[in-house]
Amino acid sequence: MSATHERDLRTGASLWAQGQGLSVPTRPLTRSISVDVAVVGAGISGAFMAHGLANDFSVAVLDRRPPLRGSTIASTALLQWEIDLPLIELSKKIGPAKARRAYARSRQAVDNLMEIVARERIPCALKPSRTLYLAGDEHGFRALEAEAEARAVMGLDSAFVPAATLRAQYGIDRTGAILSDGSARADPARLGAGLLRRAHDAGARIYSPVEVTEAVSDPDGVTLITGVGHAVRAKHVVFCCGYEFPKGVPTPGAKVISTWALATEPRAICPDWLRDMLVWEASDPYLYLRMARDGRLIAGGEDEDGPTAHASIPKLRAKTARVARKLKTLMPDVEFEVEHAWAGAFGESETGLPSIAPVPGMDHAFAVMGFGGNGITYSVIASEIVGAAIRGKTNPDADLYRS
Ligand SMILES: Cc1cc2nc3c(=O)[nH]c(=O)nc-3n(C[C@H](O)[C@H](O)[C@H](O)COP(=O)(O)OP(=O)(O)OC[C@H]3O[C@@H](n4cnc5c(N)ncnc54)[C@H](O)[C@@H]3O)c2cc1C
Repeated sequence: MSATHERDLRTGASLWAQGQGLSVPTRPLTRSISVDVAVVGAGISGAFMAHGLANDFSVAVLDRRPPLRGSTIASTALLQWEIDLPLIELSKKIGPAKARRAYARSRQAVDNLMEIVARERIPCALKPSRTLYLAGDEHGFRALEAEAEARAVMGLDSAFVPAATLRAQYGIDRTGAILSDGSARADPARLGAGLLRRAHDAGARIYSPVEVTEAVSDPDGVTLITGVGHAVRAKHVVFCCGYEFPKGVPTPGAKVISTWALATEPRAICPDWLRDMLVWEASDPYLYLRMARDGRLIAGGEDEDGPTAHASIPKLRAKTARVARKLKTLMPDVEFEVEHAWAGAFGESETGLPSIAPVPGMDHAFAVMGFGGNGITYSVIASEIVGAAIRGKTNPDADLYRS
């Protein structure tokens, strides 16, 4: 292993932190200001939110870090419409009609994301991808067969793949899988940076570093107080703080955990079909993988309870070795050397759905918490739902995301 690789594995630097395309015009907040909408958090959720509002409102985005340095820089950016909880399981929790709506909404959100990236010409290595959801210790082949059927009934492009086909076409030895169309992958940091740049071009201002320490609402709006005592007066505030939940914002059923990821050197030796496929499994802990444009393999999983476990470097090494080993067991012909390994906080909810809702007891304030393996898809949905609310409209799916 080279010295660079040693260093990256020691520091836990994400693959996306290097290279061009991350720059976003930011400024310090040197005085109190007044805007239509204040967005707290310049991660991917804040970026979609600011982008969706900047043409119609004056928008200030505030972040205590440089943009995109929270959970977003750690994301492996599988842009999926499939929810962590299968449709059949989600139906048991929230009822079949709502579960079908949640799946349809996610499916639409991935299309909407791709449309925004194409329209805005954001260079973020976006590629439409299929997904292969492998039977595992949580859901075996019978459950996946029923799941594929339930999805097909509602018009989703999913089909069950039996074990023999899985082995013959993909060289994977599992009892079955679901093959689905309509997902995508991208570089999450460059996607977020591109959205923030477009929002800036439309008039949004991005202030960093600015710590929001207090929020006080009244019938006409919200006043945010920063760490150095400036006030940001806004008609509406949207908290897009990732897994760093704002004080005073209830998060029922939400749990912050830790998760790990690795990227191999470019041009790993992989089968051709993997180039446009996202692979994940119905297991706990789970493994997932995909390729990047330069032929790197990106894989992750090994989730563990505890919001700070991701900060441990010995754990990073152990989890990296585990993910690499599982990768090799699943696909013995793949050849690679790990170049980057990193970890981050991750959110889970009982349903796999996010919380996108007004803040209880605080007028004119919304909080967006994207949970689960498809957090970025939820960032898109959040910008649509909160955007509608700020425009005084109701979104027919808003009820799905109020816990
Ligand atoms: C290893 C890993 C792999 C993942 N893989 C995927 C995947 O494949 N697909 C997927 O869709 N999702 C994935 N996710 C989840 C995804 O990354 C998150 O859902 C997404 O990044 C959340 O974005 P966000 O903007 O809501 O939060 P963040 O990116 O965390 O941004 C929140 C921002 O708010 C700022 N902030 C917080 N509090 C304050 C305050 N008081 N004042 C000022 N600023 C504040 C923070 O500094 C931060 O920049 C993964 C996550 C991890 C860790």
